[in-house]
Amino acid sequence: MGLLIVLSGPAGVGKGTVCTALRSRMPEIVYSVSATTRQPRQGEIDGVNYFFKSREQFQDMIARGALLEHAEYVGNYYGTPRDFVDKTLSSGKDVILEIEVQGALKVKENFPEAIFIFLLPPSLDELKQRITGRGTETQDIINTRMNVAVEEMSLLQHYDYAVMNDEIDAACDRIRSIVIAEHCRRERFMPYVTGLKTAIEKA
Ligand code: 5GP
Repeated sequence: MGLLIVLSGPAGVGKGTVCTALRSRMPEIVYSVSATTRQPRQGEIDGVNYFFKSREQFQDMIARGALLEHAEYVGNYYGTPRDFVDKTLSSGKDVILEIEVQGALKVKENFPEAIFIFLLPPSLDELKQRITGRGTETQDIINTRMNVAVEEMSLLQHYDYAVMNDEIDAACDRIRSIVIAEHCRRERFMPYVTGLKTAIEKA
């Protein structure tokens, strides 16, 4: 079985940027493509960036149990197709989900053996800059998003690892180290050791 790696963290922390950078640095990991009801942005391709769905199609996926988790975020649905994750993990490959915090908590309920990584902003100023830098939002909206981000920060307690997103290369190195270490957990080698012992006993 491959590892299910959940990369999450507060809005504006740079999850998408880190995940994009990881793709070239860790091509051996399979990146799950989410379904969403939001409109494609310029340059986004259906089936590559997201599976773009109508609300009806998305609700049908929920009803069929086709999603491992889903959440509503800024008025749109986002969710992880279950089949793809199950099949990829069974084939022995690692899968990474880049999802917001509510969805990550749901994965934890259904898939407690997954590895939960929480991305942290290097400072509140930096977070504010990222949230403000996204567009031409009013001060009220920025304040609301900052408050949500601060609340989301307290969800760190549910995660296994925290990774500071101070610098993209450093953040990717930390995630890479986590994945390598998780592959070295003794539990993963129990069947191997049992096999070795049996072979020695037979010899
Ligand atoms: P965006 O619309 O900017 O691509 O994504 C908005 C937020 O949705 C990001 O925080 C991203 O991590 C999150 N997201 C993307 N895909 C999924 C998913 O499948 N499930 C959940 N719960 N969140 C997702």
